[in-house]
Amino acid sequence: MIYIGNHVSVSKGYLAMGRHEHKLGGNTFAFFPRNPRGGKSKQVSAEDMEALRQYISDNQFGKLVVHGAYTMNVCAAKDEIRANSREMMRDDLLRLQSLPGNFYNFHPGCHVGQGNQTGVRQIAEAVADIIRETEQTSKIPLQNKVLLETMAGKGSEIGGCFEELKAIIDLAVSIGGEELRGKLGVCFDTCHIWDAGYDIQTDLDGVLAHFDDVIGLNDLCAVHLNDSKNTCGSRKDRHEQLGKGMIGADALCAVVRHPLLQNRPFILETPNDDAGYKQEIQTVREWMLR
Ligand code: FE
Ligand code: FE
Ligand code: ZN
Repeated sequence: MIYIGNHVSVSKGYLAMGRHEHKLGGNTFAFFPRNPRGGKSKQVSAEDMEALRQYISDNQFGKLVVHGAYTMNVCAAKDEIRANSREMMRDDLLRLQSLPGNFYNFHPGCHVGQGNQTGVRQIAEAVADIIRETEQTSKIPLQNKVLLETMAGKGSEIGGCFEELKAIIDLAVSIGGEELRGKLGVCFDTCHIWDAGYDIQTDLDGVLAHFDDVIGLNDLCAVHLNDSKNTCGSRKDRHEQLGKGMIGADALCAVVRHPLLQNRPFILETPNDDAGYKQEIQTVREWMLR
């Protein structure tokens, strides 16, 4: 069973996203609850969220992978940006308390100068604080797992290696308590890990074994399925359509078919219009039947 889908615009509301994805042939999707570049999130009615919840249940969708805004940087050097980023994430998670059982992923952030160790600590503190605050405000436990995304390691980006993600999770748990462990996970972006230097083309088994050693495959909750415009280790982060980049169709096919990666939502973040996404969803479904 594969759950495959793509990024969908929230501009027409929540239920509209589910219907749109269904038309493209997908059975999961991702969306930005606010403008991906930041700013105010769209006002959504409780009815619209409930309608989507019912729709994805009726149509047997996999878990959705909601994406935090790119502009969020909870380890920014400036206090004001950090505070603002925390506010955005808290607002997203609070709203998603009404859409339970899904994932919320975000880019760990860029330390922009204060060093990886400080960055890791700031991210861990932010995650622990925000989850606690979300639970206090909504008066119920966190309803969606929070996923740290594997990054390409561009510039001062945190999360370009599995060890850093593990360090964030462990530190967040040591701050927030052991019950936080089940509320955190990782989103595995194929373009990003390739660009970070993990060779999933010639050694997918080795990369997954390493992930399992460092973090544990149980915590690999979702996959961003992208080809890359650049070579392994380039640290560039430029996505490409499936099969048209340097990772290639055979290696990406091996990812979606890998026995250790089954039953996860796979999200396309490839440069595409709707027709392109529809085609890629079809392609991935064909790979599963090979
Ligand atoms: Fe992302
Ligand atoms: Fe991604
Ligand atoms: Zn990317």
